[in-house]
Amino acid sequence: MAGKYRCPQCKTNRTRFNLLEQVPKPVKLDAHTGDIIKEYVSGETEPFHMAYNGPHIRVQCAACGLVESEQTFQAYGQLP
Ligand SMILES: [Zn+2]
Repeated sequence: MAGKYRCPQCKTNRTRFNLLEQVPKPVKLDAHTGDIIKEYVSGETEPFHMAYNGPHIRVQCAACGLVESEQTFQAYGQLP
């Protein structure tokens, strides 16, 4: 985490946030039932199973509930 946060929706909260850690869990589903038929150990997926490459965290404003990227909260944190 680097830089101050500020919520772009309620515009007042600069202190209370939930950091939502993204923990990918690769799975294989049954195409017909949607049931999980296999859970992979990270890095041991089958060919053509793309690994998660999104952000490590998302951020929720703990005042109004908005969920956005960390960059969004940081950008508003830079404003006076
Ligand atoms: Zn907010």
